Amino acid sequence: MRRVAVIGGGAAGMMAAIAAARAGHSVTVLEKNEKLGKKLFLTGKGRCNLTNACETEELFQNIVTNHKFLYSSVYGFDNHAAMQFFEELGLKLKTERGNRVFPASDHSSDVIRVLERELQKRKVDVKLRTEVKGISIADGHVNGVRLENDCLLPADAVIVATGGYSYPSTGSTGDGYRFAEEAGHTVIPCYPSLVPMETEERWCQELMGLTLKNISLSLHHQKQELFRGFGELLFTHFGVSGPLILSASAYIGSLSPAKLQLFIDLKPALSEEQLDKRVQRDFLRYQNRRLGHAFDDLLPKRLIPYVLQAGMLSPEKQVNTITVVERRRLLSVLKRFPLHIRKLRGYSEAIITRGGISVKEIQPQTMESKRVKGLYFAGEILDTDALTGGFNLQIAWSTGYAAGCGIE
Ligand SMILES: Cc1cc2nc3c(=O)[nH]c(=O)nc-3n(C[C@H](O)[C@H](O)[C@H](O)COP(=O)(O)OP(=O)(O)OC[C@H]3O[C@@H](n4cnc5c(N)ncnc54)[C@H](O)[C@@H]3O)c2cc1C
Repeated sequence: MRRVAVIGGGAAGMMAAIAAARAGHSVTVLEKNEKLGKKLFLTGKGRCNLTNACETEELFQNIVTNHKFLYSSVYGFDNHAAMQFFEELGLKLKTERGNRVFPASDHSSDVIRVLERELQKRKVDVKLRTEVKGISIADGHVNGVRLENDCLLPADAVIVATGGYSYPSTGSTGDGYRFAEEAGHTVIPCYPSLVPMETEERWCQELMGLTLKNISLSLHHQKQELFRGFGELLFTHFGVSGPLILSASAYIGSLSPAKLQLFIDLKPALSEEQLDKRVQRDFLRYQNRRLGHAFDDLLPKRLIPYVLQAGMLSPEKQVNTITVVERRRLLSVLKRFPLHIRKLRGYSEAIITRGGISVKEIQPQTMESKRVKGLYFAGEILDTDALTGGFNLQIAWSTGYAAGCGIE
């Protein structure tokens, strides 16, 4: 039996603590907040999309960074194992659109409650309002964690599950990156990810609240396409947000926004030829109208002036005076409506942090450091990240479980 200290009582920390306690170790969780799972509580808009019920192989297609590193831990405790784990703890689950798994009650608090109950059952010592200041290492082996007033809590193994930088109000303020660097680890530069974007186009704020549904969005870095997806985009007071924008942001990382461009295909179900026919039909029907009123059947009303502006056409122009060249220009705007990114919003609005502890220095089966014996990492602190859909919490469950089971 080892004395295990887990730093951080979030998703990964609680899972690691349960796995270590089940393996017979004496476990203490150190959490600086007044309660466990503060971020978990916010997840899935308070409903907690705790994993995804897809085929396990499909999980990896949704992991943006270092999916290969996660093979061992995910196959050791995959999405189906996670669902079984929660159901065995008495949490009823349901699966929604896109295989997203939620508690049947729609309350993230129920996820936290069953984890807390299991921690208690396994006699894990949970110390709240306890901030870890550092990790104590001697002769290449951890021997404890340093708390306030230089107090040392002795431990044979330490699991760092302090999360990233996103939503710092939940406690994830990046402390673990410092601990890792002090222990000799490389931290890959961090960026906000799954985050809304500010646009150069100030007029986006005029469309605040407008959602474009069933559109296709692509993100380009100079000539290279980084992302393409289908779904929803939302205009906000600063630019754009919504599921498609969050997903696109996951591919940006260190790239300079000045070199990035978004293109919206407003009618992805129609080829350019089909769309041309459709536009010609509408033009014939509304030939005596002004252009500003000729797209009412095709586009959301509020968007029309900006589509015409991008096509360099006046809304006052009479439909029956549109030339072929002008119509083609409009078609190209409808299929490739451009937006320029000014910058990504900050960590306080980012679902996750991209970057983190270099996975090259971590054993993928056990999450143990290759540099310091008895030191483990789990969850968002690692340089791995995924798209929305329950995949980021799955990373926390799988790596937390691997770390808890990995203690010798
Ligand atoms: C608004 C929002 C919604 C989300 N929704 C989903 C979703 O529906 N599905 C999904 O898969 N993912 C979702 N995510 C992402 C997911 O929540 C995270 O990836 C996951 O919580 C990471 O778990 P973690 O345990 O690594 O870190 P965290 O949950 O951030 O936990 C880290 C814990 O460590 C503690 N800590 C930090 N430093 C110290 C220290 N020095 N001493 C003691 N304690 C410390 C913190 O207080 C915190 O409690 C969402 C994220 C956000 C912000």
